[in-house]
Amino acid sequence: MKSVDAHLAEILATVRTLAPLELELERSLGTTLAEEVSAPVPLPPFDNSAMDGYAVRAADVEAVPVTLPVIDDVAAGSDELRAVGPGHAVRIMTGAPMPAGADAVVPVEWTDGGTVSVTINQSAPAGNAIRRAGEDVQAGEVVLRPGTVIGSAQLGIVAGVGRRRVWVRPRPRVVVLSTGAELVEPGLPLRTGQIWDSNSFTLTAAVRESGGDGYRATTVGDDPARFLEQLDAQLVRADAIITSGGVSMGAYEPVKEALSPLGTVRFEKVAMQPGMPQGFGVVGDDQVPIFALPGNPVSSFVSFMLFVRPALRKMRGLPAGAPETVSAQVMGSLRSPAGRRSYLRGVLADDGAVTPARGQGSHQLAALASANALIVVPEDVTDVPAGASVQVIRL
Ligand code: AMP
Ligand code: MG
Repeated sequence: MKSVDAHLAEILATVRTLAPLELELERSLGTTLAEEVSAPVPLPPFDNSAMDGYAVRAADVEAVPVTLPVIDDVAAGSDELRAVGPGHAVRIMTGAPMPAGADAVVPVEWTDGGTVSVTINQSAPAGNAIRRAGEDVQAGEVVLRPGTVIGSAQLGIVAGVGRRRVWVRPRPRVVVLSTGAELVEPGLPLRTGQIWDSNSFTLTAAVRESGGDGYRATTVGDDPARFLEQLDAQLVRADAIITSGGVSMGAYEPVKEALSPLGTVRFEKVAMQPGMPQGFGVVGDDQVPIFALPGNPVSSFVSFMLFVRPALRKMRGLPAGAPETVSAQVMGSLRSPAGRRSYLRGVLADDGAVTPARGQGSHQLAALASANALIVVPEDVTDVPAGASVQVIRL
């Protein structure tokens, strides 16, 4: 049997980082920056008021209370500014440019709020409530480096330096294709022998959570020819394909039957539980990576976390490797088959105690949904006593 680590290594050696492209800002959320973004001008571009109040000369408000004539009103966006002479005040709004002559802003709260003249009750030192040009970013300064994932704040600074388009590595487009003659769309009634398709929803959502764009293709039955047709139709829009089901040792294994003859996808036993049967390779002219995951809901989910998620990180241009683990103390005893690495479902508490979920079967999706961690039991360990220290993967 192939080890989990060898399988992941092969996957990471095969998948390629997506080429950069220039995207509209609105479409760049969740992508990975592929260029250095810098500011063409200082930010803020000009000295401006940090508060609603009055622009004055600090020397004129040293002795308070004092009443000054209000000679002008400047709103944010104003560009016609009258200079503030000695003994004058200008009403000013947050973000409005500082008029020449003034060296302090008196917040409106320290005044009577007058519009013709204003009585100021508290002194403001020079520089008070002024945001200086370049205080956030100097002209030419780099604000984001390549490899940064664009979240809302990062998108904001790209816009904030005046950029409309940006070079990024896109979110990988991943088509999820589930197989199984027993599968029925959720929302439709079940007949005898049928179950609702859950994997395609789980996996599509897991792709989104992993920074990709998941597309759920229509479920195909157990006919290899129909599977190939659907795969062909989906390949045009996919940077990667995930299939579920049809890779085990039984009869009616459409994924295995359809893909094995191509010679570019290997079906192997990986020394893990759940998720032993795994297929991986490339398909189509563009050598699109395909992950053929086992059909049991917990198996396909665990396989996604161990193999697909790191691959998506590589495609996005991010550091990729095995999922991180943390130490925890297990609150019950565990069993694991010899020679296979187990990933048992558990609930990890803040104090580092992990309680194994009830129901460790690879079909027990409810137990998975109640868990927030996978407890890793190494290949050479078959019994873990309660209280032992274990490694867990946070979900
Ligand atoms: P397979 O890998 O196709 O042999 O499927 C293994 C088990 O997983 C069977 O019990 C299937 O009914 C179940 N299964 C397969 N695909 C799905 C799916 N999309 N949603 C829920 N269960 C599935
Ligand atoms: Mg099946």
